[in-house]
Order: sequence, then structure tokens, then C-alpha cells
Amino acid sequence: MNLVESEKKYYMPVYERMPVTLVRGKGVNVWDDAGKRYLDFVSGIAVNSLGHCHPAVIRAVNKQVRTLIHTSNLFYTAPQLELAELLVNHSAMKKVFFANSGAEAVEGAVKLARRWGKLKLGGAYEVITANGSFHGRTLAMVAATGQPKFQKPYEPLPSGFVNVAYNDIDAIKKATTDKTCAVLLEPVQGEGGVNIPGPGYLKQVRAWCDQKGLLLVLDEVQTGIGRCGTLFAYEQYGIEPDVMALAKGLAGGIPIGAVLATDKASVFARGDHGTTFGGNPLACAAGTAVLRYVIENDIPSHAKDMGELLLAGLTKLKKEFKFIKDVRGKGLLQAVEFDQDIARGVALLCLEQGLIVNNLKPDLIRLIPPLVVQPADIAKALRLLKYSLKQASANLA
Ligand SMILES: *Cc1c(COP(=O)(O)O)cnc(C)c1O
Repeated sequence: MNLVESEKKYYMPVYERMPVTLVRGKGVNVWDDAGKRYLDFVSGIAVNSLGHCHPAVIRAVNKQVRTLIHTSNLFYTAPQLELAELLVNHSAMKKVFFANSGAEAVEGAVKLARRWGKLKLGGAYEVITANGSFHGRTLAMVAATGQPKFQKPYEPLPSGFVNVAYNDIDAIKKATTDKTCAVLLEPVQGEGGVNIPGPGYLKQVRAWCDQKGLLLVLDEVQTGIGRCGTLFAYEQYGIEPDVMALAKGLAGGIPIGAVLATDKASVFARGDHGTTFGGNPLACAAGTAVLRYVIENDIPSHAKDMGELLLAGLTKLKKEFKFIKDVRGKGLLQAVEFDQDIARGVALLCLEQGLIVNNLKPDLIRLIPPLVVQPADIAKALRLLKYSLKQASANLA
């Protein structure tokens, strides 16, 4: 039985997959079961930050897997505290909690905000979030995610979330009541279509949170760890959050999530939160290897330079192809928006050419290559994308 049939038979049909079986990866490339090579500009959805099977990750995971994989949090383990210390030393945050995924990290941040509301704001519990956001797939995070397509199938949703317009400080001000304990935002919206905040927006939100005593929670699950051209995206907006969630790129492909908070916002007490797997030695050893490499090699500024190169190329393509409505991004989180629903078709044409891109929305593809891409990879991706767009254009004619 081939894998397509096998998936149909045994797997819940929730994913629209690319018609390819991947078997191996190295650096910016992956190979399918027929030996065909692809330039990977999705990198496991912004997860394989150092590319596939990076030597630093292999070394760290190999060593840890032979030493101690898991202990539970009933015990102290060195890799967990090593990664926590590294994160604290390189961010505005002072305390860390490890989870296993993005959704779990953001939900942990929301639980922290609810503790904040109980302790400091007379029991306030509501969290304001943005339309077009994405915070994960647990029931509570679906309620936080301001996109009806994720919410409708699961109503009634957990209460305590208010979705308002993104990029609109007045919408946040209007939604704030004496029940509000926090504002939760992605500094740049990833899954919502690579939406970049207007100048001043995050500063205005920061000021409003300060004025009202609300926590500003930033979901940097996708934008963090160098993706947007700084170690954390908030650095580019002249603000610091009270709480931050990380996941995707943090451990180079090993599942991990993290909730970080300032001393002021770190209000969990013993027993308030916990996890079995979160922060285990294996995941944290991988995280430490990735974060060290990212910091020591100044990968964020490399991502910034490569992002500029990519965006310049996309901007040129926009001039050539009338059906491109917009190109935008920050660092190596980039998108091409079309004036019609051709994204899946374009992604399949790219795939044929040996380039993997992500048809995030019917009319939008996202480019999220490994942070270690080189100018030659960018040039190749642009060449293959251009060829695919030409074919798409011919198909439309
Ligand atoms: C991917 C993502 C999540 C969810 O992460 P999972 O690991 O899939 O649970 C949450 N927030 C943002 C901003 C994301 O991009």
C-alpha cells in the first residue's frame, strides 16, 4: 500500500498535504522517496531554523539521547536550566517555563495572565486578541485565535477572549473593561497572512497596557529566535512584553514551547502550572544547541540580510506579474499575495520545479526558509518561483 492510500485508511483526514513523501533532509534541501531534491522554503513551518539535520543539533541530541532523555519535572536537570538561563540572558524576560508546543506555550501565557488578573486586577480574566491572529489549536487557543474558520467548528468556545481588529489601538481601548487582564498579540501575524503592524501600533498597545495595569503578552512562536531579523521581533518595535511565548524555531525540529515572563509578571506559585514532557533534557539540549548557534553566529542579522534580498526579488516579481497584489514580510517571514485564488496551483508548480513554498491562504503563499539560507539559495528560489509564476500566468490566459 502506498502512503497516500495508507494515510486515507489510517490517519484522520485533517491535512491537505503536498503530493510528496519526504525521506531525508540536509541544510536547506530535502529529498523525496524518488530521490528528487527540493529547496525547502517552508522549513517545517518555521521550525527547522538551522536547516535540516544541522550538525550542532545532531551533536547535542545524540549526546543527550545517550545520556538522559526524560526525567519529569519531579527532578532538577541541567539542560533545562541551561536553556532557561540562555533565554533570560538574551531577552528582556527573567523567568522561563517549558512546554511542548506553541499552543501550549501561549495557553500557559494566558493562564499566567489569569493569575495576574486574580492577584492584581480584582479577578479580571479577559484577554484581548486580534482578528487574523493564530495562537494554536487547543480549545482555548482557538478562542484566542481571531479567525472564524478555526472557531466555528468547535463552538461553544471557552469564554474569556475578545477578538478585535489588528493594528487598531482604538479597538483595544474600546474592548478594555474592568474584566480585562491582558492583551495578547503576535508582533507580526504569521498564519494570518504575514501581517505587519503599522508604525507605532505596538508602542501604543504597550502604553495602554501600562496605563491600565494589563499584561502585554507577545506570541513570538513564529517570529522569535531570529526569524524576523532580530532574536525576538519585539526588539524592532521599541517595546518589551511582560510575557512572551516561544516554540517553533527554538529547538531546530525537536518539539518544545516556552513561556517567558518579567519578574513582575512571573506570578505562578508552586502547583499553579505544570507538564510531564515539557522541558525534558532532550528537547532542552536541542534548544540550547540551536540558541547558542543562533547567538554566536549572529543568525538574526543574517536573516535580516537574506530577508531583504528575498523581498527585493519578490518586489521585482510583483512588477512583472500583474496578478501579484502585494509582497511583504520581515526578515525570513515573507509572503506573496495574489489578486485571485491561485496559491495552491503556484505552490504545486513550484514543487514540480523543486521548490517548496507554503500556500497559506487561497490567495497567498508564504516563504519561511531556514535562517541559514545563502544568497545563492535565495537566487535559486526566486528563479524557480518566477518560472512557476510564468506557468501559472500561462494557465490563466
Ligand atoms: C504555529 C503557531 C502557534 C501554534 O504552535 P503549535 O506548535 O502548532 O501548537 C501559536 N502561535 C503562533 C504565532 C504560531 O505561529
